[in-house]
Amino acid sequence: MSTAAMDVEARNAGRDTRCRLCLKKIEIAQTAGIDLLENQDINRLLLDVYRVEVLQTDEGPTMICVPCYSLLVHYYKLRIRCLSLRKNFRLNQSVLLAQINAFRGKN
Ligand SMILES: [Zn+2]
Repeated sequence: MSTAAMDVEARNAGRDTRCRLCLKKIEIAQTAGIDLLENQDINRLLLDVYRVEVLQTDEGPTMICVPCYSLLVHYYKLRIRCLSLRKNFRLNQSVLLAQINAFRGKN
């Protein structure tokens, strides 16, 4: 094992450096992983998208790797888009129903 790798190992000693989502080991935590406890906005995204809550007292891993972060952002955008489309669909439906009722009322 190289000295650099040993340094990383020492820094992460006692910490669970696996990704919370894919459970792959995050080798260099400082560059390749995001600590959810230090990034509450990302933590909230995780809760919004996957219903996974990471607490300060969490005994499981509290990091996510960059590929999982990218996927999380992707699914978050998709979710926002779906919610917005659903809202538009409902609005169009109620406008259509109102028009049908108004038309019926005339005859
Ligand atoms: Zn991951």
